[in-house]
Amino acid sequence: AQERYASIREKPALTQDGFTVALNMNAGLMADLPSLVSSGAEGVGLFRTELQFLVRNQMPRRSELVALYARVLDAAQGKRVVFRTLDIGSDKVLPYMKPNEEPNPALGWRAIRVGLDKPGIMRMQLQALIRAANGRPLTVMFPFVAQMEEYTEARRLMDKTVAAEARLGHILPETIEIGAMLETPSLAFAPNKFFENVDFLSIGGNDLKQFFFAADRENERVRRRYDTLNVSFLSFVERIVERCEATGTPVSFCGEDAGRPVEALCFAAMGLRSLSMRPASIGPVKNLLRRSDLGQVRKVIADARHRGEMSVRPAVMEWLRGQG
Ligand code: PEP
Ligand code: MG
Repeated sequence: AQERYASIREKPALTQDGFTVALNMNAGLMADLPSLVSSGAEGVGLFRTELQFLVRNQMPRRSELVALYARVLDAAQGKRVVFRTLDIGSDKVLPYMKPNEEPNPALGWRAIRVGLDKPGIMRMQLQALIRAANGRPLTVMFPFVAQMEEYTEARRLMDKTVAAEARLGHILPETIEIGAMLETPSLAFAPNKFFENVDFLSIGGNDLKQFFFAADRENERVRRRYDTLNVSFLSFVERIVERCEATGTPVSFCGEDAGRPVEALCFAAMGLRSLSMRPASIGPVKNLLRRSDLGQVRKVIADARHRGEMSVRPAVMEWLRGQG
């Protein structure tokens, strides 16, 4: 399938009306890295670090993590890699951590909540990332931030870790960017100060959608009930993008929907200029973006909203059929 899009692999996702959308890939294992070249991705927009913790039967040592993250950065050859700190809990349970009986794991002790309550693990991971960068740029993002203070606290832990690493004589990264994932509706309503302070945001659409519609992403019975192109969800995404534009905060979208061409097209029409997806989706998404005029898509979406339609999908699909 990658061959089908080989002719546009080195070309940008430049729309007919002149907007460029950065297409990055999601990764989590070393085996994913060769796709960085074959897919034509600009960089790794989401590196899910928990996968390395989940495939073992004991907690990895810091030295192992340093070696692993250094290999990831080596393989990326200067392309940006966004390392997401451990996103465990909920559906991702570490086999060597005491299982925790929770009535609603998706709403429970997970991701940054674990990281802040057990800073030892988070500190070890941050140290490993700093050492792996070894003078190169480093990009880190914290998962599942629900309120500004969690980001502030995690960032403070990073600052302290950087200072301690410097005291130990380690070479610091050339630059450090620290972002947050926006995966809970609450964070979209955080104070302006948060948007101004965060280095970048990445919309975790899988979780954001689950919480927006209160529909469990793991539950087949309700999972497909709500369309991502539902006007309510699309308006919400648009509102997040507008807040980011107003504060100059770089924003991208890294949930699975970014890899679905029609969804990606609608997100771009809502103003998103950066998407991250599985490598195999980059070709099809780029192909559709390059053929489309975002201004026209915006109009199709606006008209569907005015007509009071539940989802903009039928209108967008019809427009696409008309485009041939
Ligand atoms: C998301 O929630 O959209 C996301 C990218 O993170 P994960 O799927 O790993 O929860
Ligand atoms: Mg998530």
